[in-house]
Amino acid sequence: MKFTRRDFIRTSFLLGSSLLLSPKSLHAKQKKEEEWHPAYEKLEAEGKLAQRIKQAYDIFENCQLCPRKCGVNRLKGEKGFCRAPVKPVIFSYHPHFGEEMSVVGEKGSGTIFFSNCNLRCVFCQNWPIAHEGKGKEVQDEDLADMMLHLQKMGCHNINLVTPTHVMPNILNATRIALNKGLHLPLFYNTSGYERLEILKILDGIVDIYKPDIKYMDADKAAKYSAGASDYPEVTKKAILEMHRQVGIHKLNEQGIAIRGLMIRHLVMPNRVAGTEKFVKWVAEALPNSTYVNIMAQYRVEYKAFDYPEIARGITAQEFLEAMEWAEQYGLTNLDPQSVAVRNFYRHRRSN
Ligand code: SF4
Repeated sequence: MKFTRRDFIRTSFLLGSSLLLSPKSLHAKQKKEEEWHPAYEKLEAEGKLAQRIKQAYDIFENCQLCPRKCGVNRLKGEKGFCRAPVKPVIFSYHPHFGEEMSVVGEKGSGTIFFSNCNLRCVFCQNWPIAHEGKGKEVQDEDLADMMLHLQKMGCHNINLVTPTHVMPNILNATRIALNKGLHLPLFYNTSGYERLEILKILDGIVDIYKPDIKYMDADKAAKYSAGASDYPEVTKKAILEMHRQVGIHKLNEQGIAIRGLMIRHLVMPNRVAGTEKFVKWVAEALPNSTYVNIMAQYRVEYKAFDYPEIARGITAQEFLEAMEWAEQYGLTNLDPQSVAVRNFYRHRRSN
């Protein structure tokens, strides 16, 4: 009986894609997956991770972990602007499905929400956690166990939300977890308000950086983020350093993020966030293929009601102009969900 090309394709389809791959290429694919290692694993193998942890912990004595540079001794219980103690306070940890698709995958992003914050924006959507510090104080060993628990649940990464003020604890917990089998990318989910000197400690430890860039004007940053007028300049430099360390957003063969920079920008009412300046800056300072998520989900929270210019949600037109600026400045790697929202609003506009 003649076995036609059509028969071959049909049989291959029925039996699964493995028939389309030779044993050699299947082996190569498996090998490639096995070969991937989180950055911190390599640093530990080089004998450098413990030294980084010490370097980070020493900063607690005269806390300069963020640009607020309070200089308090957190080891002695003193508290600075973020009001964080020396031990990590955790609000919750669980698989999270509300993040970008490439970090969520099928099993979710293994998210740990740290309480307290060094920025404290008036429109904070997590204000009970970030401003009021609601959560439970834990030991670094407990934090390590949480990481391992998230890995056991099948999560694709360890997503550290608002990590800046507890960075030394995170590094220590990561090493403890690594020695018990942690093998997931470390995903640093930050407001972007980071010091270059501190980011250098994270070089070779973090696999994925996801900084916000909230505003491009010093006066807006000062007004809505507790006097942080240096936020735009500090954050731009921090993002360039993050890109230097991890490069462009990279996926594995299953489409899951394993490394790279992902920038988030929340569109605010009345052009408060400076979106056009933001996309222009990305286009000029970074590769056009930098992953950018322009977000439509601004909502009036916490003290935003006291500021009339931000005391409303954004309009469809405000979101569309933001996305159109991104296209005009040539950004080619926009978050798929924000592109879908743009397409929906465009469709509505034309009907
Ligand atoms: S981490 Fe907290 S205590 Fe340390 S410098 Fe920043 S705001 Fe101040």
